[in-house]
Amino acid sequence: MSATSQAGLYQGPVFEMARRQFNQVADHLNIAFDERERIFMPKRAIAVSCPIHRDDGSVAVFNGYRVQHHLTLGPTKGGTRFAPSVDVGEVGALAIWMSWKCALVGLPYGGGKGGITVDPYTLSLRELEALSRRYMQEMIPFVGPHIDVMAPDMGTDERVMAWFMDTYSMYSGSTVTEIVTGKPVACGGTLGRREATGRGVAFLIGRAMEIVGIESAQATAIIQGFGNVGSIAALELAQRGVRIVGVSDHSAAYYDPCGLDVEALVAFTRENRFLKGALAEALIDSDELLVQPCDILVPAAMERAITADNAGRIKCRILAEGANGPTTPEADQIIAKRGDEIFVLPDILCNAGGVIVSYFEWVQDLQRFFWDEPEVLDKLYGTLERALQRVMARAVRDGISNRDAALALGVETVRNAKAIRGLFP
Ligand code: GLU
Repeated sequence: MSATSQAGLYQGPVFEMARRQFNQVADHLNIAFDERERIFMPKRAIAVSCPIHRDDGSVAVFNGYRVQHHLTLGPTKGGTRFAPSVDVGEVGALAIWMSWKCALVGLPYGGGKGGITVDPYTLSLRELEALSRRYMQEMIPFVGPHIDVMAPDMGTDERVMAWFMDTYSMYSGSTVTEIVTGKPVACGGTLGRREATGRGVAFLIGRAMEIVGIESAQATAIIQGFGNVGSIAALELAQRGVRIVGVSDHSAAYYDPCGLDVEALVAFTRENRFLKGALAEALIDSDELLVQPCDILVPAAMERAITADNAGRIKCRILAEGANGPTTPEADQIIAKRGDEIFVLPDILCNAGGVIVSYFEWVQDLQRFFWDEPEVLDKLYGTLERALQRVMARAVRDGISNRDAALALGVETVRNAKAIRGLFP
């Protein structure tokens, strides 16, 4: 790809990872160099400063971002992250991955992602509400139900989405539920959205077990990340008879080959937010947890969890990427060379359940016509199954990894849409 005037804007290891993945797939698809930049580089980046009153009376200013990757297929779509790591490079990469994800599963969206550089757990509830509302207020000129539709991501939840929706609606003068997804059901959210990502991860793991030939009752799983994705995936897998031998979040990691009581751990985090203090025994170093033996390894926390440092030592048969970008390209190469045929469910497929049900929520809000939960789940699993079939068929056809097949399908869809629409003016 040639250098661009924006080349310096998006920096950091996560953006470089997105670029490297894209170039690898662009090579495979024979995309000319002068076409690559148009497909890869984000269309828009918005940076805002968000001042709020702290509880002690002082004023603090937080940096917020939103990146809208491409506008070719419809509005942009993607989560809003409140985390200390947030910068425009990370958000840009996450927006690009959202584009490939939406295209892979057939949603009429480009990718978007936003966030605020903040540790939300250092804020009081009032401060969190003030910051959420101020961020949405700053974004009003740049978002809309047919422009860019936000959703939860790391550090945000349905309560934050309700504040976003309320703030946008107060400025509009009427209730605009379709401005964000992942809202509480009580104010225009859909049944099944909160659990959708974790359930989708568990559904695809179930399919991968059938493909690889592993019985649920004999299977073991380790799950890194115990937020909305990891905890629901753990519960769903446990319900299917899988023994959960390891879980972790940033506060603690537990490993017990005899199995952990996932329901008790979820109940503990409901009360105490994090895993720390949940168990006196079974403590393990969080890096060590990832390399313990298991059938299913689920990185469901941050980017870059499986790297060149540990990829040679992970001991699983299925790698199910609940997080976005948990495996670096260097780690991918090491895993491919090991020759033990780990079945990878790549992030843009594995965690797509969230945005799929977000799409259902948006459609229901636009139509003011709501579905029951079985209908949501049926459509969710059908969409994931079709995407899985397409990824596996493409991997076999082209002799490439599941990740490259998933990325190729996503990138190709965006590329074709751009080619058919042509270049304006
Ligand atoms: N933040 C989620 C993701 O990374 C969900 C995005 C959405 O529902 O729009 O896929």
